[in-house]
Amino acid sequence: MSRPGIVVAERRKTRQVHVGSVAVGGDAPVSVQSMTTTKTADVDGTLAQIYALKGAGVDLVRCTCNDLGAAEGLARIVPRSPVPIIADIHFHYEMALAALEAGVAGLRLNPGNLRKPEEIKIVASEAKDRKIPIRIGVNAGSLDKALYAKYGGATPEALVESALHELELFGEVGFEDVAFSVKASNVPLMIESYRLLSESTDHPLHLGVTEAGPPPAGIIKATAGIASLLTEGIGDTIRYSLTADPVEEAKAGRQLLEALGLRERKGLDLIACPSCGRAEIDVIAVAKAAQSALESLNLPIQVAVMGCVVNGPGEAREADLGIAAGRHKGHLFIRGKIVGVVKEDEMVSALVEEAKKIVEEGIEARLAAADASAEAEAERDRAELLNLQGDDVNHSEQVIAEIRRKRSH
Ligand code: SF4
Repeated sequence: MSRPGIVVAERRKTRQVHVGSVAVGGDAPVSVQSMTTTKTADVDGTLAQIYALKGAGVDLVRCTCNDLGAAEGLARIVPRSPVPIIADIHFHYEMALAALEAGVAGLRLNPGNLRKPEEIKIVASEAKDRKIPIRIGVNAGSLDKALYAKYGGATPEALVESALHELELFGEVGFEDVAFSVKASNVPLMIESYRLLSESTDHPLHLGVTEAGPPPAGIIKATAGIASLLTEGIGDTIRYSLTADPVEEAKAGRQLLEALGLRERKGLDLIACPSCGRAEIDVIAVAKAAQSALESLNLPIQVAVMGCVVNGPGEAREADLGIAAGRHKGHLFIRGKIVGVVKEDEMVSALVEEAKKIVEEGIEARLAAADASAEAEAERDRAELLNLQGDDVNHSEQVIAEIRRKRSH
């Protein structure tokens, strides 16, 4: 459930392009993209993946168009796809023309491997006639050799020059419907390249850390790059390039935008305490069980799983719904207020039931329907736990005293 929040940064003003029904840049929300890993010629397999990606929250999907079979696949996929399809083109300009004929909503060209000006201009002319935007997608790893030599490596200046040179070629045929990316697997290089590019152009920017690798390291690398730029107001569409099921990419992208308040919450946001000496349950196991039970319902709420009723409801008072353990019971709370007490082995099912009711009836109605005796029962359990464990069960004060003792000599 969304609530008014703090804006991370004023978004940089960009011109807008339209990839089918999805606007990118301008005042459009930051969109999420992913790329299929199936052979594009495998129409049913590719469509199944596109539907899974749509379910995970993508706005746009890219498919490779590397041969005639792929182009023909696109002709069958495009009319059945729930999201606009972008064709990824490397080396062969004819494949860009075939993809345009197949009806794709966008193209991605790599200036590092599609280099002949006359071919680039033929593609741009055709895209212009069909009103289809093109992303100029520069990659540090496949940078034009001449630029590599000129700058002594894949520097931010080299990546940006590659992108802008391609735009000049497009300009020669009057085509301007362009977005850019300057990806690198090196995060500082990627960040600096996008910063430089954003100072040089008002075309929308597609952010990504290329070849980020498998999760969790890949997600961390991609997030470090993409989030840094988004918090500076740079970026109009994003893609996580993970060595994983693309659904993971879609989820990560969506979750990042939701976490930054750049998109409305679409799915579950499960938070859980890290557990400590006070925990009355196996927090990791209960959080996992809650996540798998709630995720499939795709409810747009924030749910907290907290290890103890002593601190849980207070620490997670911002969550729409939560459960905290104590005295072999689960204490169900909504926005920090205890609304029910259930048996410990019913914690997850109670959480799921209440989550459904919140989505159906709203927070206020569920707060009004709270079990009147629950608060008092939770208070008793809390007092009992404090009595049993003391108020410094993590021995923090002891540690602090030790630090002070050692420093005082
Ligand atoms: S005090 Fe309670 S809620 Fe906080 S981390 Fe420890 S177990 Fe979890």
